[in-house]
Amino acid sequence: MVYYVEPIKLRKRHANKFKIAIAILIVIIVLSISIALGIFTVKKVRESKNNEILENVMEERKTEIDKQQEVVAQTQEQPEEKKENVVAQQVVKPEVDYKKFVANVNNIYDGKEGKRVFLTFDDGPSEAVTPYILDTLKKYNIKATFFVLGDRVKYNQDLIKREYNEGHYIANHGYTHDYGKIYSNYKKVLEEYNNTEKEIRKALGNKKYSSHLFRYPGGSVGGVYNKLKQKSKEQLKKNDIAYLDWNALTNDAAGANTKKKILQNLKETVGNKENVVLLMHDAPDKILTYETLEELIKYLQGKGYVFKNMYDLM
Ligand SMILES: [Zn+2]
Repeated sequence: MVYYVEPIKLRKRHANKFKIAIAILIVIIVLSISIALGIFTVKKVRESKNNEILENVMEERKTEIDKQQEVVAQTQEQPEEKKENVVAQQVVKPEVDYKKFVANVNNIYDGKEGKRVFLTFDDGPSEAVTPYILDTLKKYNIKATFFVLGDRVKYNQDLIKREYNEGHYIANHGYTHDYGKIYSNYKKVLEEYNNTEKEIRKALGNKKYSSHLFRYPGGSVGGVYNKLKQKSKEQLKKNDIAYLDWNALTNDAAGANTKKKILQNLKETVGNKENVVLLMHDAPDKILTYETLEELIKYLQGKGYVFKNMYDLM
C-alpha cells in the first residue's frame, strides 16, 4: 500500500510545484508587461507635454514676431502717410500759373475737347436764391462759377464759404454794380475789383485767395462807357487778371419772366456751340433762375454738354 502511496504524493507535490512556477511566471510576465506599458505611457505623456510646451513656446514666439513685424510695419508706414499728406495739400492748393490761366480764359471759345458749358451766375450771393442754386448744382454734381459783388459778399459770408467749399469758382464782378461809380474813372474798375477780392478773402478767412477773373457789369464791350472799359483792360492785364463775358444767356435779368421764355432763350443762344459760357444771375429777385435750373441742366446734358468751371482752366 505504502508502495503505491509514495509516488502519488510525489506526483502531487511535483504538480503543485509546477503550478506555482507557472503562476510565478505569469505574475512576472504580467508585471513586466505592466512595467513596460507604464514606462511607455510615461514616455508618451512626457513627449506630449514636451510637444505642448514646445507649441506654447512657438506660439509665444510667433505672437512676438507678429508684434515686432507690426511695429516695423507701423514705423515704415508713418513716413508714407506724411508723404501722402504733403501731396494732398499740394493738390488742394496748387501753385497756379496765373499768366497761363489768363491765356486759357482768353482762349475759352477755342477749346477742342468736345462740347463743354461753363455755368456762370452774376450779382450774388443772395439768401433768397443762391442756396437753392447750390442745392441743385450739388444734386447734379456740377461745379459752376460765381461772379460775386463786393457789397453782397460782405453780408453773405457763409454763402461764399459754401460756394467755395462745394467746389465752385468764386470770381469778381466789382463792388457796387453801379455804372455811374465803377465807370466814373478807368482806374475805378481795378479799385472795385481789389475791394471785392478783399471781401472774398475776409469771407473765406483765406488771406491768399485771389480769383484773377473779372466780369464787367454790363459786359466788357460797348455801351456809353466803351472807351473807358477798353482803357481799364490794360490795368487788368498788368495784374494778370482775366475778364470774361458770355456767349449764351437765358435773359433771366432782361425780361424773361416765364420758365418757357428762359428755356427758349437758352436753346436759341446755345445752339450747337462747342464751347458755351452761359450767363445767369443769383441776385435776390431771380427766383425763376433756380426754378428753371434743373430743366436747363437736363437740356444741356441731353445735348451732350460736359459741365466745367474755372478750375478746369488752371
Ligand atoms: Zn451783373
